[in-house]
Amino acid sequence: MTITAAQTQDQSYSDTFYTSLFEVENGERIKACLQCGTCSGVCPFGYLMGFPPGRMIAYLRADRFENILKTDTVWMCVSCYACTSVCPKEIPITLGLMTRTKEELLLSGNVPTELQDALMNSQRYGNPLGESPRKRAEWIKGLDFEIPTFREARRPFDILWFVSDYPSYHPRVQLTTRAMAKILRALNVDFAILGPEENSDGDSQRLAGERGLFEMLAEKNGISFERYDFKQIITSDPHAYNAIKNEYPKLGIEYPVQHFTEFVAERIEDLKSKLINQIERRVTFHDPCYLGRANGIYDAPRTLLKAIPGLELVEMPHNRTYSLCCGGGGGGMWLDGFQWEKAHVRLSEWRIQEAVSVNADILAVACPYEPPRFEDAAKMVQGAGRLAVKDIAELIADALEPED
Ligand code: SF4
Ligand code: SF4
Repeated sequence: MTITAAQTQDQSYSDTFYTSLFEVENGERIKACLQCGTCSGVCPFGYLMGFPPGRMIAYLRADRFENILKTDTVWMCVSCYACTSVCPKEIPITLGLMTRTKEELLLSGNVPTELQDALMNSQRYGNPLGESPRKRAEWIKGLDFEIPTFREARRPFDILWFVSDYPSYHPRVQLTTRAMAKILRALNVDFAILGPEENSDGDSQRLAGERGLFEMLAEKNGISFERYDFKQIITSDPHAYNAIKNEYPKLGIEYPVQHFTEFVAERIEDLKSKLINQIERRVTFHDPCYLGRANGIYDAPRTLLKAIPGLELVEMPHNRTYSLCCGGGGGGMWLDGFQWEKAHVRLSEWRIQEAVSVNADILAVACPYEPPRFEDAAKMVQGAGRLAVKDIAELIADALEPED
């Protein structure tokens, strides 16, 4: 249920908003807030927000929620889950408070233009980049082997590979998609893709407050899933993983799903004999928010990196639960201009500085938002000239024996 300002005439906005928060799982815990400020302290942009999460709750209690809606600082929230993971009262701040507030701001038209464009593209074309759905499988053209689509192959497959938006369309991320295809082939996995029948997973749109759009995209994907016969879904996109695992079931769309790193880590013994090229590099891993903090997957990516011959894995000071956000989540991917104007700093640059501080040659990633974000950031950070950014799939593909 979405509550609009018109519905609040005979009831205070705070009361109405509080009640709507209780619909979120564990949302009623907001009543137990200690006002300790830990959430605001850990928030990467908390120092810039007129209303960081702890203060938002204080204003809700004081029946002054309207004051929050008059500002745009909630758009600085990148849905990184850091506040949620440290709250001693386990209040669902990211999913409840921040996302619900963004929904209200969207309803009142208080939305940065660049975010509006991404949302409109998602509605029109089924992806935030505004690309033609017909081009969704064009990344295949860079491969010297076939990738089957369910529609053309017309047979059951073990695996539905949900490729997702940036791996399908973004030229830099397409390199990681092709690397993933090579790994699945080396493992003899029986897989197919949806191609033009795939739509955006909708997770970032949901976190940016567009619940209706999320539901429309999820339902379209649900119809595509239902058409075909497969045992499970895999995806390299932590947002797609999060949506299919945690949000689609709430809409009755239920399928087993694994992130690519989990799927390959379970089969690493089958792959090891084929990893013959030494990658003699010092590598550090960036835990993506929606793989790590939101879904607790920390070991699988490290298992893969440790299996690569010659590779030395080092940790950055902020790792696992305490990983720094790249700034791309919760619509942040489409709010770079807005956030730059407010902060004059990019979260991705802080991460690059950490990778440089541990003398890494390579920053390894496992989310499609990250290669372009971190490569851009590395150009701005002093001393990052020799730091390469590579998806784990690219590192594994580099270590694979050449095909005959
Ligand atoms: S960390 Fe939790 S308990 Fe503390 S102020 Fe934030 S929401 Fe309240
Ligand atoms: S989800 Fe992240 S960016 Fe948003 S309020 Fe919490 S800590 Fe801040």
